[in-house]
Amino acid sequence: MMKHIETVAVHAGRAVEPGTGAVTPSITMSTTFERGRSGNYSHEFVYTRSENPNRQRLESALAMLEGGAAAMAYASGMAATAALFQTLRTGDHVIIPTDLYHGSRDLVNQIMQRWGLAADAVDMRYVDNVQRAIRPNTRLIWIESPTNPSLNIADIAAIAAIARQNDILTAVDNTWATPILQQPLALGVDVVMHSTTKYFGGHSDVLGGALIVAEDGELAASLRTMQLLVGGVPAPFDCWLLLRSLPTLPLRVRAQTATAARLAYFLDAHPKVQRVHYPGLPTHINNDVAARQMQGGFGAMLSFEVIGSAETAMQVAANVQLVTRATSLGGVESLIEHRASIEGPHSPTPDTLLRLSVGLEHIDDLMADLEMALATV
Ligand SMILES: *Cc1c(COP(=O)(O)O)cnc(C)c1O
Repeated sequence: MMKHIETVAVHAGRAVEPGTGAVTPSITMSTTFERGRSGNYSHEFVYTRSENPNRQRLESALAMLEGGAAAMAYASGMAATAALFQTLRTGDHVIIPTDLYHGSRDLVNQIMQRWGLAADAVDMRYVDNVQRAIRPNTRLIWIESPTNPSLNIADIAAIAAIARQNDILTAVDNTWATPILQQPLALGVDVVMHSTTKYFGGHSDVLGGALIVAEDGELAASLRTMQLLVGGVPAPFDCWLLLRSLPTLPLRVRAQTATAARLAYFLDAHPKVQRVHYPGLPTHINNDVAARQMQGGFGAMLSFEVIGSAETAMQVAANVQLVTRATSLGGVESLIEHRASIEGPHSPTPDTLLRLSVGLEHIDDLMADLEMALATV
């Protein structure tokens, strides 16, 4: 019987160790594993780049949480994204969203295009735009929903259906929603990508990435080859830390999401705020799509544009005291960031936009901190 996700989060990838009775998994630091007398590998492990007990535990847990057939863990979210793009061939065409994690955009534009991949960026809030961008050589549609940093929503099931008709692979960067709120494989996509650095890790102390596939077939085999031959695999300790964080994932994500939703309404009503980007607000253009494809909330990320200039936004970020002014997201502590300045000179992000990663602090304290910082401008 399929267990509830809270139970899966606690037990997936874990088993009492037969040799010692250890309830918590040990960390296997060994990079190499002994062969038997006949030269065979009796313990199945050979060399840690190809497989390691801690990575195996993490991968099986990630596959179960996303409802996939297999998972491949990488050293970072970017390494996972790159591994998927590296399974494509020169001359293939990909469709990406106009608004997405800037690292993914730069990977496609600065590296993959140089290797002969063709790419088009479309506004995926409208399914028709995706349909129109399909070419005979389109091999992959890369979706991010909600997007970073504009919280745009793409209709995942609709795009996956179009892709399937055209024999095109679909992948969703599910970093912001997590499988607690959104399960893209159940919506018909082929691959889910995670920066496990964010909510899976949850404590801003470990870097990681993963790809979870719907079927353990040809694609899974090439992604394992990418682990082995490109080598961007996570260290055993990093896998251990990530597995350690999984049991609290459902609780953390739900609590952080509940606070974020209330902050979105608070900021939306604030006289110093021009606009709030949060898919849970009824004014969000794809609020209905988000409500259909997400369960239990709209996530713990939001962004807002202050009235004024880039300097006004910078001043708000400088004046918060409880919220930390730093990049990244998904940790237990709330973070605020002026996005355009980290995305670089070609960033399409408005320079009055601040992104907020809502942590586990009490709502009243967060609200008071933001109120105080907004009062200074
Ligand atoms: C952080 C992030 C990434 C990149 O992951 P790293 O672990 O930093 O390499 C990709 N996509 C999204 C949505 C992210 O937030």
